[in-house]
Amino acid sequence: MDGTCAPSPYRGRLAPSPTGYLHLGHARTFWTAQQRARQHGGTMILRNEDLDGARCRPEFVAAMLEDLKWFGLEWSEGPDCGGSCGPYHQSERVAMYRAALDRLRETRLVYPCCCSRKDVQHAASAPHAEDGEPLYPGTCRPPSPAAQAASRVCWRFLVREGEVVEFVDGQRGPQRFVAGRDFGDFPVWRTDDLPSYQLAVVVDDAAMGITEVVRGEDLLLSTARQLLLYRALALAPPAFLHCPLVRDTHGERLAKRHDALSLRALRAAGADPVALRTGGAA
Ligand code: GLU
Repeated sequence: MDGTCAPSPYRGRLAPSPTGYLHLGHARTFWTAQQRARQHGGTMILRNEDLDGARCRPEFVAAMLEDLKWFGLEWSEGPDCGGSCGPYHQSERVAMYRAALDRLRETRLVYPCCCSRKDVQHAASAPHAEDGEPLYPGTCRPPSPAAQAASRVCWRFLVREGEVVEFVDGQRGPQRFVAGRDFGDFPVWRTDDLPSYQLAVVVDDAAMGITEVVRGEDLLLSTARQLLLYRALALAPPAFLHCPLVRDTHGERLAKRHDALSLRALRAAGADPVALRTGGAA
């Protein structure tokens, strides 16, 4: 960790991806994150998670900043205001992620894999994790001459089958997952030569001195994966708190396609952000 990023008592973060307009679900989770930081007299950081070049767009970054501010969210470090743990755009932090990959490669905790996403999805025996990720069937687990020789590979984290990953969630209490059953070997580096979400978020949360990660409960299983990465990289993990997802009137979780519940649309319709901050189904 950079010496200038010494942890303050509490450091939280908002980590949106500019792949569309933010919706009420994001905003409510972020509101909880801000409340937690305030309760602890802590600092909030905004990080622009813009690694998905095909889906991230500059106009969504601008909209994200505007919409978050309209909702009442505040941060003291971020892409628009700087800070000692920058840069705050993930696309500008790739050298740090690459250093982490090199470290994982040295310790042989990752291996090259030449399976496409489709290969994995279609593998006859591949069951899916609860979050929809197919469990990797192990085709390229070492030794795999095909993967060693391939020119286009991703890098996968090798999980220990049957290892129990446990943590106490700030909202949901004790959590327990089993590697190889609840989730499989997962990518840390993509075939397009960029880090996966799992690796980037661990490197950043550690480098930015984040003490508590507040995010949606759709990422519970990712937390289990990320805890393995913290250990592999000899980094101290933060605490975790996963918020319930906001659902629409049909009980479906909100997605960026729910235009009517985007912060943009709510604002244009004259909604009062104070009234939107807490509540049940949208
Ligand atoms: N950028 C991620 C998302 O929007 C955030 C994940 C996280 O909070 O760790 O889903």
